[in-house]
Amino acid sequence: MQPLLQRGGQRLVRCAPRALTLVRRHGTDGHGRGTDHPAPPGAARTPSVPMVSRMYQPANLREGGQESELTCRSQRLMQQAGLIHPSSPGCYYYLPATVRAMEKLVRLIDQEMQAIGGQKLDMPSLCSAELWRTSERWDLMGKELFRLQDRHGADYCLGPTHEETVTTLVAHQASLSYRQLPLLLYQVTRKFRDEPKPRFGLLRGREFYMKDMYSFDVSEEAARRTYESVCHAYDMLFSRLGLRCVQVQADTGNIGGTLSHEFQLPADIGEDRLLVCGSCSFSANVETLPSGKTDCPRCHTGTLAESKGIEVGHTFYLGTKYSRIFNATFSNHQNQAVVSEMGCYGLGVTRILAAAVEVMSTEEAIRWPGLLSPYQVCIILPKKGSKVAEESGASAEGLVHALQESLPRLRGEVVLDDRNQMTIGKRLKDANRLGYPYVVVVGQGALEETPRFEVICQQTDETMFLSKDGLVDLLGRVETV
Ligand SMILES: [Zn+2]
Repeated sequence: MQPLLQRGGQRLVRCAPRALTLVRRHGTDGHGRGTDHPAPPGAARTPSVPMVSRMYQPANLREGGQESELTCRSQRLMQQAGLIHPSSPGCYYYLPATVRAMEKLVRLIDQEMQAIGGQKLDMPSLCSAELWRTSERWDLMGKELFRLQDRHGADYCLGPTHEETVTTLVAHQASLSYRQLPLLLYQVTRKFRDEPKPRFGLLRGREFYMKDMYSFDVSEEAARRTYESVCHAYDMLFSRLGLRCVQVQADTGNIGGTLSHEFQLPADIGEDRLLVCGSCSFSANVETLPSGKTDCPRCHTGTLAESKGIEVGHTFYLGTKYSRIFNATFSNHQNQAVVSEMGCYGLGVTRILAAAVEVMSTEEAIRWPGLLSPYQVCIILPKKGSKVAEESGASAEGLVHALQESLPRLRGEVVLDDRNQMTIGKRLKDANRLGYPYVVVVGQGALEETPRFEVICQQTDETMFLSKDGLVDLLGRVETV
């Protein structure tokens, strides 16, 4: 037990390895103020370095009342690693490391949606049946809709999608001008769908996160341009994630409209069957083509081959299907009320996360898109009682200090594997299984005059030995979001 700092006359005492305490002693409170003086109440403190021994990432949790069958790689790996835990069929606890990864994905989505003019809002999940009856989808949706009643007997559903809700909102603005269009509104919220057979972990759940965007335009031509810009934003997003998605022609299903594409991530466990042309970029969902078709309808020379995919995004050009029903109009140049042209665009947030783990991981080890990894760096401290442990304290502390000071972007991204009763080998195995992009081992090299650290880049499987400065240089190039 060592005192960390004096604050408000109260001695804060915490079990912590020496590395952390020295960082505190030499450090500032994150705002350039030294920690010699007690911080005023409520002031930001130096973000502490997360310790693996304290993380709530319970591996191999016992199942609760609900047995869940492990049906695919991402579900098995994520459950075993303490990333998710099943609660009821198709519903999961998202444990802290998963929430970190999700938050990063949402930040990335925000960047791409806002780059094309998207404005974020948040709509109620509890949706009045009245709206759904108006669009006739209350009956059309059948058993997929989670329905409930309030104490007055009024019907509601838990929203699986929000065309009715958002169109009503926009219709309420009497003064919407053509100058304000295109209007792109989006949200990232929990969605609900009464799946008959939830499975594949986060890939097919009953409660999940989705990004849904809705566009309002002055004309069909403008709406198609917006449609293209959203498709382009999706391409950007997937390429930043390192996921090779294909954009395929799709059926418009119960959403309606006249033009639709799915963004499919090719994967063996995918539930969608795709036909992809070997010669041109044409690809389509099997359901949209006549059965048995093998020649490409676009280039007429290529042959269509079947592959499986996980649908991670979907775009629809809706025309005036909803805007006409709910009377979502804008005033044009001549100050006349005109019905808006709409589009809607979904991204499965939790599904993208699981699908990425599904296609990037091996059977034993999780691999993340670099940007989404819950933590970027894991530093493994020497085993307790070893010669290295006794003599490397200063260089380990220097390392953590250097990372915190030189790479503010990585604050909160570096974890210390302080479980020093375990061998380095055992902890390396854990780090490999959890997929930190960079693993740094404080070993023999830390005792050299210029301390060196073993660095394993898990994304590329490279191992190198770097000085503190070399490591700062390497990690300075890590992209974060
Ligand atoms: Zn073709």
